[in-house]
Amino acid sequence: MNFDLIIRNATLPDGRSGIDIACEGGLIAAAEPGINAEAGTLIDAAGQLVTPPFVDCHFHMDATLSLGQPRLNDSGTLLEGIALWGELKPLLTQEAVAERALRYCDLAVSQGLLAVRTHVDVCDERLLAVEALLDVREKVRPYLDLQLVAFPQDGYFRSPGAAENLDRALDKGVDIVGGIPHFERTMADGAASVTALCEIAANRDLMVDMHCDETDDPMSRHIETLTAETQRLGLTGRVAGSHLTSMHSMDNYYVSKLLPLMAEAGIAAIANPLINIAIQGRHDTYPKRRGMTRVPELLHHGIPVAYGHDCVMDPWYSLGQADMLEVAFMALHVAHMTSRDEMRFAFQAVTENAAKVMNLEGYGLAPGCRADMVLLQARDPIEAIRLKPARLKVIRAGRVIAETPPQVTQLRLDGRPETVDGKDYQPKAAG
Ligand SMILES: [Zn+2]
Repeated sequence: MNFDLIIRNATLPDGRSGIDIACEGGLIAAAEPGINAEAGTLIDAAGQLVTPPFVDCHFHMDATLSLGQPRLNDSGTLLEGIALWGELKPLLTQEAVAERALRYCDLAVSQGLLAVRTHVDVCDERLLAVEALLDVREKVRPYLDLQLVAFPQDGYFRSPGAAENLDRALDKGVDIVGGIPHFERTMADGAASVTALCEIAANRDLMVDMHCDETDDPMSRHIETLTAETQRLGLTGRVAGSHLTSMHSMDNYYVSKLLPLMAEAGIAAIANPLINIAIQGRHDTYPKRRGMTRVPELLHHGIPVAYGHDCVMDPWYSLGQADMLEVAFMALHVAHMTSRDEMRFAFQAVTENAAKVMNLEGYGLAPGCRADMVLLQARDPIEAIRLKPARLKVIRAGRVIAETPPQVTQLRLDGRPETVDGKDYQPKAAG
């Protein structure tokens, strides 16, 4: 037997070790110990972690890498970020948006991030960001799965023309219906926008992913409307609520009623820990609230949770390097989810859970899945989060599309080892 590619001696995210992964015709043909075959390309994983690719289910690719244009966000708030984006919007060109997006995708690939759901602002008569990202979606298709959400950044009702532009964007081929109910002028408008947008999704047979309650206001309860509309319109399993940060500040009794309703409606939750720890709580003195939704409680009720990066070097967030392990790292700190199982969950939230939210086909390491994989310089998911290590090989459909050399430091100290490799530092008892 002769395969296109075999990876030998891999450790998988589920803990299995000594696994060989054979790939043929762009798919995984087998993943088991001791595959007795030849291959065109042979990779020795040497016991290190091979994972399906990282997945970012909440991002803004039209804004990424625009940091500083036309100025920086002084207050650090969501609202100044939106205002700043509004200043930049008239200055955008389709070419510049596409170029920034393509450069971001290069960075994503280098980090083993091969699927991204991006919101794209439709509050612009010209829809040039939509045109740019539709074009980018096709250009990157061979190496990165890009989903587009029609996002009325300035409010579906609040921004004149937003409703028509959102329809036009969907007509052009944008995949998913978005929204921003907490940015409408009144609670009633916000709720009405949720209804209108869910009806559009139902009529067009599309998924919904709404920015929902991205505020510290405990009375921002648009998730309740989103839940009700999901059930009324039969959208179960096709709806995600992004951010849901007001839940952090809500009354406990109210949340105890809300969570079972969300579970019943089959809504997924997407938390964006890096951005919300930075932009929420800005009106607080001390103690300052954490800007993240109630992840352990959502999970306890069986609600699917995934993590998104949201922003990289844009009007809302000035850091980031397309590394979903940074997202997982921040999330487990913010949510106090530091048990071994909870840290493994954080890894799932930027891989398989995010893939489920995006409805990605052929994702995973089982035979028949597309042969998309990342070999990390780490031995298990917790170590990967601790180290944020080199992506030694990034593989798409059985072909290596990015390589990074291992990071090993040469030590020049008398009587001490000659090299330091971070992955050798985990105490035996921890594994
Ligand atoms: Zn967002």
